[in-house]
This record gives sequence, structure tokens and C-alpha cells, in this order.
Amino acid sequence: MILLKMPAKIIDGNKIAEKILNDLKSKIKNSKQKPGLAIVLVGNNPASEIYVNFKEKTCKEVGFYCERFNLEKNTSEIDLLNLVNDLNQKANLHGILVQLPLPNQINEHLIINSILPHKDVDGFTPFNLGNLVSGNTFLAPATARAVMHLIEHTGVQIEGKNAVVVGRSVIVGKPVAMMLLEKNATVTICHSKTKNLQEHTKNADILVAAVGKPKLITKEMVKDGAVVIDVGINRANGKIVGDVDFENVKDIAGFVTPVPRGVGPMTIAMLMENTLKAMELADRIKK
Ligand code: NAD
Repeated sequence: MILLKMPAKIIDGNKIAEKILNDLKSKIKNSKQKPGLAIVLVGNNPASEIYVNFKEKTCKEVGFYCERFNLEKNTSEIDLLNLVNDLNQKANLHGILVQLPLPNQINEHLIINSILPHKDVDGFTPFNLGNLVSGNTFLAPATARAVMHLIEHTGVQIEGKNAVVVGRSVIVGKPVAMMLLEKNATVTICHSKTKNLQEHTKNADILVAAVGKPKLITKEMVKDGAVVIDVGINRANGKIVGDVDFENVKDIAGFVTPVPRGVGPMTIAMLMENTLKAMELADRIKK
């Protein structure tokens, strides 16, 4: 008897995100107050411009209010700090997003830390990251939330599973690991100094790649039937690709996200949800 291996189910991030955005749209359609998002872009990093354009466009599509601030590449730290302080005071702007990376003359930590925690829709302030670690989520990083949402959408139970996160950045790897831990997975975090990466990844029921290296995760590194979430966004031969060798891994994995149409659109949807949450938090603080 020949046993045929079923190819992985492709997790359609676009479709899942579209539903979330439609739900948000209906939710605020008849409300007097609209969630407001301030988007700050310093300089003209082409990738950042694309992300910011997409965030602004989505904001408008769901009926949120959006103000965009394009600052010169040579903007000083104090000028950016003053802008963030002004935005902190604006009642119609519930969320503030400062697109990273910032130019070298500006200390990113200083800027992020100056955003009021209840307006920090990226979830990068120490207050929000601290809350995430303590299991008391306030506003959590959008990409990490996107990853969790996509895993949960597969219907695969997280509790008790071996989850391996490749990448330990503060904006993706660490928060994803914390969220998986919160859901009772046994979590391993791998990074650039990890020895024998494959030994770890091969053991993963849930594998999250957040590195920024095309085809780092090959099919030999994936366990049969695993849920594989590809966060990477890389430009290779004029195309956008992830960190996972999608074409080959899809024959081994149980579920896999494509790039594009995977984590990217879900991140934007989670950002929109965070903006609505920020508005609700502002209302609670006022009362
Ligand atoms: P980063 O550069 O801050 O972190 C990369 C991590 O990968 C580091 O922790 C490093 O230790 C690890 N790493 C590097 N080489 C490795 C190797 N050979 N083996 C194992 N680990 C290795 O990057 P980031 O900001 O976390 O982003 C990671 C990727 O995700 C990038 O491609 C980025 O563009 C993408 N990204 C996508 C979204 C989205 O919405 N889809 C959001 C944020 C980031």
C-alpha cells in the first residue's frame, strides 16, 4: 500500500485579515467616535514607506481616522520627542505608531518610551511588554498577535506542544515566545548563536520563523505535520519571500503561511484592533 502524504494546508492570512477588518468596520460604522491613529514616518526608507502606506490605507478603508506625519531624515531627537508629546495630548488620536527603524541620530528606545502606554498600539513600550510578560496583556505587539491568531485559526491545540521560535527580537521573537508560553506550549527560542538549529526546529510542533533570511528554514528542518508560521519579509530576485522554503516545506508541514498573504496582512489587522482597543482604553481612563 502506498501512503500518500497530504500537502500542507496553506493558511490564507489575507482572507482571515479581511474578515477581522470587516468586523471592525461594522463595529464602528454607527459609532459617534472613530478610532484615531497617528502614523509617524521619519525619512524615506522604501520598505517603511510601503508599510506606512498600507497601514494608512487600511485605516481609511475600515473607517478609522488617520493622521500621517512625514518627517525629514535629519529630524532631531528632540523634535520627534516633541511631536510624540503633542500626539500624546490629542484626544482624537488614540494610537501612536512611530515606524521603525529610526535614523541613527535618534534613540529609538527614548522615542518609544515617550509614547503613553494606552496609546502604544505597537505594544513596544516597557509598560506593555512588561504586562505581556506578566500575563496581563494590555496592548500587545501586532505581529506577535498576528502569529498567535494564525496558529489558533488552524485549530491545532497549543497547550503541551513543542513550539520553536527562531529569532529573538523585541518586536517579534520575544513577544511570540511569551504568548506561546502563556498558552502552555513548551517554548524554545533560537537565534543567531544557536548551535544545530535543525535539531531544535525538527522537534517543533509549532515553528515560527522571524529572522529575515530567505530559505533559512528548509524542509529537512521541519517536523512532519508541523504548523509553520513565516514572519520573514525578504526581497530576493525582485520578489518578496519569507524565511521558509515554502515550495518544499509545504510537502512536509501540516499548515504553513505563505509570504506574501500570510503574517503581513494579519499584522495590519491586529494593528487596527489595537487602535480600537486604545480608543476603548482612553474612554475607560476618562471615566
Ligand atoms: P531582527 O533583525 O531584529 O531579528 C532577527 C533575529 O533573527 C535575531 O534575533 C537573530 O538572533 C536571529 N537570527 C539571525 N540569523 C539567524 C540564524 N542564522 N539562525 C537563527 N536565528 C538567526 O528582525 P525582526 O525585526 O524580528 O524581523 C524578522 C523578520 O520578520 C524580518 O524579515 C522582518 O522584515 C520580518 N517582519 C515581518 C513583519 C510582518 O508583519 N510580517 C513584522 C515585523 C518583522
